[in-house]
Amino acid sequence: MDFQFNDEQKMFQQSVRELLEKEFAPIVDERDPKGPLSREEGIDVMKKLKKVGVGLDPESIEDLLDPVMFGIIAEEFGRVWPSLLPLFGMGAIPAIFAPSASEDARKRLVPRLEAAEFIGCFAETEPDAGCDTSNLSTTAKREGDYYIVNGTKSWISNATIADTAFVGVKDADTGDATFLLVEKEISPFEATESPKMGWKASPTGEMFFDNCKVPVENEMSLLMEKAITSGSLNIPDGFMKLLTSMTPITAMLTIPRAGMGLASVGIAQAAFEASVKYARERVQFGKPIGRFQLIQDMLYQMNVLIETARLLGYKAATAIIDGDREARRLSAMAKVYGGQAAFKVTDMAIQIHGGMGISQEMPLERYFRDARLMTIPDGTSEIMKLITGYTILGKGFAAYS
Ligand SMILES: Cc1cc2nc3c(=O)[nH]c(=O)nc-3n(C[C@H](O)[C@H](O)[C@H](O)COP(=O)(O)OP(=O)(O)OC[C@H]3O[C@@H](n4cnc5c(N)ncnc54)[C@H](O)[C@@H]3O)c2cc1C
Repeated sequence: MDFQFNDEQKMFQQSVRELLEKEFAPIVDERDPKGPLSREEGIDVMKKLKKVGVGLDPESIEDLLDPVMFGIIAEEFGRVWPSLLPLFGMGAIPAIFAPSASEDARKRLVPRLEAAEFIGCFAETEPDAGCDTSNLSTTAKREGDYYIVNGTKSWISNATIADTAFVGVKDADTGDATFLLVEKEISPFEATESPKMGWKASPTGEMFFDNCKVPVENEMSLLMEKAITSGSLNIPDGFMKLLTSMTPITAMLTIPRAGMGLASVGIAQAAFEASVKYARERVQFGKPIGRFQLIQDMLYQMNVLIETARLLGYKAATAIIDGDREARRLSAMAKVYGGQAAFKVTDMAIQIHGGMGISQEMPLERYFRDARLMTIPDGTSEIMKLITGYTILGKGFAAYS
């Protein structure tokens, strides 16, 4: 497949890149090591990105639901500042459903979405339910017009700064798994930060739901039905085909998985660009190190990993747009391959930079730390490989259920 962006995609990529270069590239190296963004800083990022059409309001979110556009955003964020990606990636799912929530919630949330003052999160993982999401212990007990939610979530991106969470629960009476849209203002929850080695500026934390009261109309199947029938969400035909041919969450996860593959490409691309520059400038034995064949071999390996991961990522994105069931396999493969590529490329970039590669004066060590995380969130590499195996072999071959 010879993948080319169309004119609209090229313009979008250019405007996102220009904005990231202008607003964030100059501050990332100083700001990222200082740790998680505050809510105010997160909102400031959202407002800046909204200027180029990257937003969570009902109109802009259609671009986030277009997997090629989302892939472009992910790749460009990866190249400049991966820590910013969860603001959009993880915030998108609650934002998609906010316009279909209870009338009161809608009145509160939609103006915030439009003003780019909304931070969301997707809360599924629990201390005892990581890869095994069938083992959730967060419960939702129906009491009249409300669910009463109790449980703990872990490793949730944006946990400490989120206004609204899309929370995975088990119905306390039926045992059925579903998601609830939980708005912090009326259904308060607590959250604490979990420090980590990479994506330093992205808040990640534990969330605690203690008798948290959530309106029943905020349950996923009701929200989904309302979103489709009210037309509050303009879902492209192909993606709609995916949503109805597999569980909605499985279909939705294809987008962030292809996106994570492409965010990995962005990190690798930044490390590669720095390495090419250094190989031209750094002189040893009286010549630029780029003249040495072993350095050129590393540049070759880095380049081919990036090109391959990029093609796989956009191939997965295109399969999602087409509503092709292969999107599940391709997005899983794109995530694994991209994550591994980013790890290998950032490792070689450090090697090319010698001592400067591990110095905190240069961003190479950040690229390496950020790349290392890519094989874990949104499905670990092991689970992605098992999904690939299952989709190749078919029914009866699920290795992880
Ligand atoms: C930076 C970051 C951000 C995150 N953001 C979010 C978020 O916004 N929302 C959210 O819900 N979660 C989030 N997560 C959680 C993430 O999805 C989980 O960490 C991931 O699913 C793995 O779960 P675990 O950490 O409990 O590992 P475990 O499930 O305990 O797995 C440990 C190891 O065992 C392997 N393993 C497990 N089962 C199998 C199997 N059947 N076969 C082979 N190997 C297996 C895993 O691949 C892994 O290598 C985030 C995690 C990180 C690190």
